[in-house]
Amino acid sequence: MLTVNAYAAPSATGALMPTTIERREVGPHDVLIDIKYAGICHSDIHTVRGDWGPQTYPLAPGHEIAGVVAKVGTAVTRHQVGDRVGVGCMVNSCGECKNCLAGEEQYCLNGNVGTYGSMDRDGTITQGGYSTHVVVTENFVVRIPDGLELDVAAPLLCAGITTFSPLRHWGAGPGKNVAVIGLGGLGHMGVKLAHAMGATVTVLSQSLKKQEDGLRLGADHYFATSDENTFTDLAGSFDLIINTVSAAIDINAYLQLLALDGALVNVGAPPQPLPVQVFSLIGGRRSFAGSAIGGIAETQEMLDFCAEHGIGAEIEVIPAGKINEAYERVLASDVRYRFVIDAATF
Ligand code: NAP
Ligand code: ZN
Repeated sequence: MLTVNAYAAPSATGALMPTTIERREVGPHDVLIDIKYAGICHSDIHTVRGDWGPQTYPLAPGHEIAGVVAKVGTAVTRHQVGDRVGVGCMVNSCGECKNCLAGEEQYCLNGNVGTYGSMDRDGTITQGGYSTHVVVTENFVVRIPDGLELDVAAPLLCAGITTFSPLRHWGAGPGKNVAVIGLGGLGHMGVKLAHAMGATVTVLSQSLKKQEDGLRLGADHYFATSDENTFTDLAGSFDLIINTVSAAIDINAYLQLLALDGALVNVGAPPQPLPVQVFSLIGGRRSFAGSAIGGIAETQEMLDFCAEHGIGAEIEVIPAGKINEAYERVLASDVRYRFVIDAATF
């Protein structure tokens, strides 16, 4: 076992604090990663606070990991010591079910192993990236292309792939009208990626406070959802809407913004249900869908796409001591646009 420094939540209500956690010895197929940066995703907050169900504590979250390979197992072929690599929201899956074989490990029929708070193959509970090192099986480690700095690359491992995958799946590109609800961590990546794919992009934010940023990030239009006129002016407009909001919103009001055959894809994961009126869908042959992160091959494709288009996250780098403060700012929608922890401070 390797004992490494980490920050973990002691309970659903306690502040995260410095501690140590155990990492397994590097097995034949494992890679030891010297973590350089870890992004703070709203899912970290939902999880440690028990929004999605009870957890085992202490729990170190973090699934936007960027670092450098420090050691490889004897059978590892995909990575070498010194490689710049990333780990996202999952660290294993069965590898045998239909979905895993299709490269959609995030939808593993036997349940993928989450990067933290998940039962690992050896029966232990996984601990995430708010730490100095992590040991991961090589197939769940992706390459960070040379053109991307590790700090701005870290959030791509969750916020990037979670928006890239539905944009690709629902065909965002030239001639498509795409809206992104919520300009936070996921939302700002959705705007950058949809713009790079050639779509016309609209931000639907609670207010116009971040309008200048939204347009700079690649949006063509920006509307405040606090203004009721937004919903009448934009009715029937969008081919695709990506909802990144972490809280429950009136989804029926947004479904009215879809064009004929349009799809509203929920990536935001509030603990509350989002009740849908059937007439919101049948009135325009509309779809209401969901999407979870992306497969490993698609995550690599997303990183290569980002390097090619010069896309990284907009970040605020913080020391570990500021994690709890950062959580409060994320909860207050005061994030521009991802907090990234400098792992040298764990
Ligand atoms: P975030 O940085 O906090 O962004 C969420 C944004 O939603 C906020 O910045 C805010 O944008 C808007 N918002 C927040 N509360 C709102 C409210 N009450 N009403 C309307 N708008 C509100 O969070 P994130 O890290 O991007 O994560 C967003 C959600 O996606 C979380 O629920 C997270 O768990 C989930 N998630 C899902 C997946 C997946 O695989 N499906 C992966 C990662 C994360 P404005 O200020 O612009 O309105
Ligand atoms: Zn995440």
